[in-house]
Amino acid sequence: MLRRLPEAVVNRIAAGEVVERPASALKELIENAVDAGARRIDCALRAGGAAWMSVDDDGAGIVRDELTLALERHATSKLSGDDLVEIRTLGFRGEALPAISAVSRLTITSRAAGAAEAWRIAVDNGGVGAPEPAARAIGTRVEAAGLFRAVPARLKFLKSARAEYLAAADMLKRLAMARPAIAFSLEHDGRRVWATPTALNQLARLADVLGEEFAQNSIPVALEADGLRLTGHAGLPTWHRGTAQAQYLFVNGRPVRDRLLQGAVRAGYEELVPRGRFPVLALFLELVPDQVDVNVHPAKTEIRFRDAGRVRSLIVSALRRALAEEGHRAATPAAVTPLVGRLHPGGSLAPPLELAERAAAWQAPLLDPDLPPAAPPPSPEALETLCLPLGAARAQLHDTYILAQTSDGVVLVDQHAAHERLVLERVRRALADGRPPRQALLLPEVVELDEAGADRLAAKADELAELGLVLERFGPQAVLVRETPAALGEADAKGLVRDLADDFAEHGVALALKERLEDIAATMACHGSVRAGRRLGAAEMNALLREMEATPRSGQCNHGRPTYIELKLADIERLFGRR
Ligand code: ADP
Ligand code: MG
Repeated sequence: MLRRLPEAVVNRIAAGEVVERPASALKELIENAVDAGARRIDCALRAGGAAWMSVDDDGAGIVRDELTLALERHATSKLSGDDLVEIRTLGFRGEALPAISAVSRLTITSRAAGAAEAWRIAVDNGGVGAPEPAARAIGTRVEAAGLFRAVPARLKFLKSARAEYLAAADMLKRLAMARPAIAFSLEHDGRRVWATPTALNQLARLADVLGEEFAQNSIPVALEADGLRLTGHAGLPTWHRGTAQAQYLFVNGRPVRDRLLQGAVRAGYEELVPRGRFPVLALFLELVPDQVDVNVHPAKTEIRFRDAGRVRSLIVSALRRALAEEGHRAATPAAVTPLVGRLHPGGSLAPPLELAERAAAWQAPLLDPDLPPAAPPPSPEALETLCLPLGAARAQLHDTYILAQTSDGVVLVDQHAAHERLVLERVRRALADGRPPRQALLLPEVVELDEAGADRLAAKADELAELGLVLERFGPQAVLVRETPAALGEADAKGLVRDLADDFAEHGVALALKERLEDIAATMACHGSVRAGRRLGAAEMNALLREMEATPRSGQCNHGRPTYIELKLADIERLFGRR
């Protein structure tokens, strides 16, 4: 039987797309306050926000007659014309208040600028009451209680109150980063947990949200080209995390998570930070609204750029330029303390303090009893080895560092850092050496797609084959996959092919495949490397030294730190005051 769904059900279904969890409801309420021109936004949550949340602002307020309208679906004061091209506010879909009110008990208390009194309106899971007089200063307070209580299916998916609280706090901080002129505060379970006053500028706000550490370890980024403007602060390459969580990206003041932007950041730090590690940064991209579509998903965190290539290259060049300038600054002789002696050029970005600490490991070497004593009568081969740049291994210290003797000094190698770089370079070479090895599927796999997707993949079949993925057109709405890149192991051909079709549709290039291969290189490098703390024999240590000599970039580990430190005899003499 075909029937129309009751309005309440329709609204709940629609609500699911806008508000997934307390953090997304909070985001919508804060965005409304921002759009209303607030200078101060105070948020409060109970039990992570699911039990109750409120957002109080000193913005323009809502006049009495519009309170009811504000709760109707697709009612908005923010789109002046009829097109979605010129979107300058955070909200525009007119969906948030009706969505939140469909899944909670919502109250709005508001006094419009110029109005003599405030009005309150209450909605209980969809049923709208009449506005009643209330008292408050100019601005708006929205409260939502019992979020999702009437939607058990959704309630089941909420995480613990703690996890929901953390997600909401993260959301609030992201929004706060983009609005230094607004003061924000957050209360959880009756306690003030966070607050940031009006900030003088972007960096002051970033430092307040991310910590002083961010201000000290980041450099300004600013570049403008053909209608695009990128500003913000980028962390030094030596400061990075295991996830992209601390990469804060904003487009026209809107926090976004976007693969294209993340890829551009990665490319900007190429060679400075390893695959699989993520520098900390906050970047703000501004472009004329008609160059970007934010109307991709109700939550508005997904975006599409009209000219993705230009956006990418702006970010890459802005980062490279900023980081290159910083490289010169850190490498000035004044930055190198005398204790450290000579340092491989690759290590120039490491802060002097860390180097001093590393060199301190020197003071009390623990000799491995299995190794020959420090000064054996040199054999002819040993003499030859001494003349190689990294010399002959003499001892392993703390199961972590290799101590080697060269013709005119000593070298201390961080075994894990060095090995990780060697493995990464090996995997990369295999990728770059013509074609990466591929494996034939026992049974070629048919992957069904829409016609446009199948067209695009078929058109790029040659390019994909270069990367190890062999496929061909198979009827109007499918492709047949015959071979996949061996490095992917038991590849999920369906998932990969669909991702690729999306990539082509969105960016015109096979980002997914290249990225997956590069990620795999980094993961293999990390997992395949000698851990710090493993005891190595003399032969193993010497083999490592020789491979380092033969491998480009081996002076710097995948994390941008030096893999070894060299002290010339002259440096040592200076340390002892002999010269
Ligand atoms: P949108 O933000 O997309 O317009 P919402 O459902 O979030 O849709 O809000 C509907 C309307 O309610 C807004 O267009 C605005 O006119 C009004 N409104 C909501 N919150 C506030 C607020 N905090 N201050 C002033 N007006 C508000
Ligand atoms: Mg809104």
